[in-house]
Amino acid sequence: MLELLLLLLPVAAASGWFAARRSEAGRDKTSSQEVFPAYFKGLNFLLNEQPDKAIDVFVKLLEVDSDTVETHLALGNLFRRRGEVERAIRIHQNLIARPTLSREQRAQALLELGQDYMRAGLFDRAENLFVELTEIKLHSEQALSNLLVIYQQEKEWDRCLEVAQQLQASDGHSLQPIIAHFYCEQAQLLIKKGNTVSAIAILKKAQSVDSGCIRSTILLGEIEKSKDDCRSALKIYKMVEVQDSAYLTEIVPSLIECYGKIGDRAALKDYLKQLYSRHRDTSVMLALTDIITAEEDVSSAVDFVLQHLKALPDLKGLDRLVTLNLQNSGSNPRESMETLNKAVALMLARQPSYQCEQCGFSAKTLHWQCPSCNNWSSMKPIRGLGCGPREK
Ligand SMILES: [Zn+2]
Repeated sequence: MLELLLLLLPVAAASGWFAARRSEAGRDKTSSQEVFPAYFKGLNFLLNEQPDKAIDVFVKLLEVDSDTVETHLALGNLFRRRGEVERAIRIHQNLIARPTLSREQRAQALLELGQDYMRAGLFDRAENLFVELTEIKLHSEQALSNLLVIYQQEKEWDRCLEVAQQLQASDGHSLQPIIAHFYCEQAQLLIKKGNTVSAIAILKKAQSVDSGCIRSTILLGEIEKSKDDCRSALKIYKMVEVQDSAYLTEIVPSLIECYGKIGDRAALKDYLKQLYSRHRDTSVMLALTDIITAEEDVSSAVDFVLQHLKALPDLKGLDRLVTLNLQNSGSNPRESMETLNKAVALMLARQPSYQCEQCGFSAKTLHWQCPSCNNWSSMKPIRGLGCGPREK
């Protein structure tokens, strides 16, 4: 309650000052005489931890004097921040019902009430208020930002696109990478329905608004792969390295599958070697290890993994080394190796595979939108232990 008191004490003092000034001016005597003591009555309720009674007093006060609108806005805002959304709603609804509010004051109250509704999870009601604000062109940017949050929550991607474009036009801040994700969301729905032609058209839109949109690249590759056009798919997948090599791990299985279908293992090995020399990526290293094991022998694979581990110690590499050694060794060190293998596998199973660069949230699956901070494209695959060097 201390925060409330700090807010209201100067207001009470100010309203007393206003009241005194008005009395001196000799106008509106009744209202000024009522305002000052009523505030202290309200403060007293707050002091005694009776916020509902305090609200009653402040709401009544508003009927007497509309100079206190700012205080009511601040009070409602404070209740919302404290998580007391119902009280915030009561104050802001009461404000809006006042016929004496100026156009700007009413708009401010609408914005606050909309935020209360959002906090309470009443998205339909919040949406109506924010739409009204954009129509009357007051607090439009804040209203559009809130609408964008609501439409993302409700996965209404068409509306997300509309609002993001309006917002971008009004405040000049680029939302292109987010807009690209909205196109990808639409494309994924179309792919699910089997409408790949429209999906491809939309994914190309995503790439035209954001040339770095990896997600659209991967989706376009998947579409070609599902049509068994592996050569086209490979051409697309190869863009991932240029866009952001941190996501190579997402395409390695598809590279193996596509080159396998074409029947060109030599080209696969060649491309993986190029990727590995440029990025030292663990998933690429593991794929190369499989090829070396199949083409040469286990000890060559062990040598290769050892070389990798010396330059870039990581858990996945270590796990592979132990597995290879188990295949290779006789019965002597076997037991200890098996124990180590189990331990490492257990550690790996517990490790998250993706982490948000913005808020640190980690997960086992890739979320294009971080579930914690709601940023788009902020979750990236963790390399090895997550502490190795990262390109770009
Ligand atoms: Zn995050």
